[in-house]
Amino acid sequence: MIATKITTSQHLIELEEQHGAHNYHPLPVVLSRGEGVFVWDVEGKKYYDFLSAYSAINQGHGHPKIINALINQAQKLTLTSRAFYNDVLGVYEKYTTNFFGFDKLLPMNTGAEAVETAIKLTRKWAYEKKGINENKAQIVVCKNNFHGRTTTIVSFSSDTNASKNFGPFTPGFIIIPYNDVEALEKVLSENKNIAGFLVEPIQGEAGVYVPNEGYLAATKKICEKYNVLFIADEVQTGIARTGKLLAVDHENVKPDVLILGKALSGGVYPVSAVLANNDIMSVIKPGQHGSTYGGNPIAAAVAIAALEVVAEEDLANKAEQLGIIFRNELSDLSKQTNLVKLVRGKGLLNAIVINDTEDSDTAWKICLKLRDNGLLAKPTHGNIIRFAPPLVMNEEQLMDCISIIKKTILEFK
Ligand SMILES: *Cc1c(COP(=O)(O)O)cnc(C)c1O
Repeated sequence: MIATKITTSQHLIELEEQHGAHNYHPLPVVLSRGEGVFVWDVEGKKYYDFLSAYSAINQGHGHPKIINALINQAQKLTLTSRAFYNDVLGVYEKYTTNFFGFDKLLPMNTGAEAVETAIKLTRKWAYEKKGINENKAQIVVCKNNFHGRTTTIVSFSSDTNASKNFGPFTPGFIIIPYNDVEALEKVLSENKNIAGFLVEPIQGEAGVYVPNEGYLAATKKICEKYNVLFIADEVQTGIARTGKLLAVDHENVKPDVLILGKALSGGVYPVSAVLANNDIMSVIKPGQHGSTYGGNPIAAAVAIAALEVVAEEDLANKAEQLGIIFRNELSDLSKQTNLVKLVRGKGLLNAIVINDTEDSDTAWKICLKLRDNGLLAKPTHGNIIRFAPPLVMNEEQLMDCISIIKKTILEFK
C-alpha cells in the first residue's frame, strides 16, 4: 500500500525517524533540489550549501557536464562486472593516472573501500617486496584520524563513539600523534615491521586540523628513509578542495599510495580509487581483490567528466583565492566576538572553533540559526563548525555567505 503523497519536511523527518536506522543526527532540513552552490528544501526555501556533502560536491550540485555524462552512459551501458572488459574503464584509467601522475589505478566505489584497498595493497607489498615476515606487517596511523566505517578501519579509530562495541578489532595498526614528525621517526626506527604510514594531509572530520608547514614533506622523507609507504588519504582534501589539486601538492609531496573518493564523481555517483606506481600496484594479481561495481561504465564516465570540470574551471585556484578571502573575513569576526575562538583551514576547507566546551550544543544551535538565515553547515566534534562550500562559488556569493555567517554569529546569544 502506498501512502498519500507526503511532502512536508516534518512528515519526511518522521518517516526517517520511524523507518530508518538512527546512525546519523541530521540538521532538521529536508532537501529536494540542488543547483550549483544552492539547495532547496521541500517547502521551496533556498540555502547555500556550506558542507558540499563532506567535499563530494566540489564541482557544485548537478553540474551539467557531469549529469550529461551520467545520462549518456546510463542509456548505453551501466554495468558489466569485471568478468568482461567495458569500453570506458580503460579510458578512465588512462585519463586519471595521467591527471594525478601515477602508473596505475584500482577502482572502487566508496572512500572506506578505497582505504581498505590501500591497506591490503600496502600489506601485500610489505610481504612480497619489502620482505616483512607473513602476518607481521604494521601500518602507522594518526590519532583522531577518520578513514571510514568498516570493521578494520574503526579498529584504528581513536574516536570511541566510532569503535565501542564493534570489536574484536583488526590488529596491525600503531597509532601515533598527528602533526608529530619525531613520533613517526621514533616508531619507524624502532620497528622493522612497518609497511606504511596512512595519513590525512588535513584531518577533516576531526575538525579541519591543518598540520604545521613541512609536516607532510618531513614525514614523507622519513618514510623513504625506512622504506615505508606514504599513503595519503585525500578522500576529503583531494580534488581542488584545499587550493591545490591534492593537499600534498602544497608541500610537493608525491605519495606512494593515493586514496581518492568523494569529489572524484562530483557527488553524482559513488566512485573511489587507489593510485600507485607499477612497483607497488603489481603485487595485486587476478582474483586477489575486487568489487562488482568498481570501475563500472557509469562510474568511469562520470569521473572523467568530474575531473574535466576541475581542470576546465580551474577549481584549485578558485578554492585558493576564495579561501584567503574567507579566512581573512572570519578572523576579523573572531576579533569582534569571543564566541569564535579561531578560524583555520586551507583553500575552501575551513572551520571555526566555538568558544565553548566540547560537549556544549552551542555550535549546533548556531548551525540552526545559519539554516534559518539560508546557509547549511554542520558541527563536527562538538564545538567545531566546518565550512566547505562548492568550489564553483563566485566571489559575490562568497561575500554574501560571509555576511550571513557574521550576522548570525554576532546576533547569537
Ligand atoms: C569521507 C572519508 C572517508 C570515507 O569515505 P566514505 O565514502 O564515506 O566511505 C575516508 N577518508 C576520509 C579522509 C574521508 O573524509
